[in-house]
Amino acid sequence: MSDKEPGAELELALLSVRLWRELAAALPGRLEYEAKGGLVVASAGSGLQALRTLAAGQREYGVHAEEVTAQALTELEPALAPGLAGGIHYPQDAQVQPALAAAQLLRTAREGGAELLLGTEVTGVRLGPDGAVRGLDTDRAGELRCRAVVNAAGTWGGRLAGLAGWNCRCCPDAVSCW
Ligand SMILES: Cc1cc2nc3c(=O)[nH]c(=O)nc-3n(C[C@H](O)[C@H](O)[C@H](O)COP(=O)(O)OP(=O)(O)OC[C@H]3O[C@@H](n4cnc5c(N)ncnc54)[C@H](O)[C@@H]3O)c2cc1C
Repeated sequence: MSDKEPGAELELALLSVRLWRELAAALPGRLEYEAKGGLVVASAGSGLQALRTLAAGQREYGVHAEEVTAQALTELEPALAPGLAGGIHYPQDAQVQPALAAAQLLRTAREGGAELLLGTEVTGVRLGPDGAVRGLDTDRAGELRCRAVVNAAGTWGGRLAGLAGWNCRCCPDAVSCW
């Protein structure tokens, strides 16, 4: 949460926090999920002011951001260097072990019937006349018929969305941002 500026990414982070919490409850002890919060510190007054401004904007989105005085910083993190100006505590921040979390999510999906096709690229999205998804074209598994697609292509998400005719907001041709 702590480094997300107000806007779409912060909204995603808030949703993500809620989903990880739910996943951790559904898969107890399997994700190394630690809801330990986060602390962002400033070494000088100008930096602290910038953190305050960011935190004020984040609070408008529902983020819990609590200012911490210089004296109280070490109560949260005893190993901090001395002489810092202060900081902001984000109690909603959490941590997972990413490789373990990915493996456990994959295992859970496969237990639910998912099939894994490694090294297979989606090269096209097939749409029906009503615009609804009908299937995917792939480079190694041919056509996959389906009624829904989850776009989890990360940095390449815009390109995959472009295959379905969706333009991204930041550029007119849906391709120049990646
Ligand atoms: C250097 C670095 C450090 C980071 N440190 C942190 C950190 O400390 N904490 C943190 O929370 N986040 C960190 N991040 C961000 C984090 O890694 C990403 O937010 C996260 O990995 C995104 O996960 P994802 O599953 O959405 O996408 P990705 O992990 O990018 O996965 C997308 C997948 O889609 C596949 N793909 C793309 N196009 C297609 C296609 N057409 N067909 C089939 N597959 C396709 C890709 O091959 C890839 O495997 C860091 C990122 C970087 C680069």
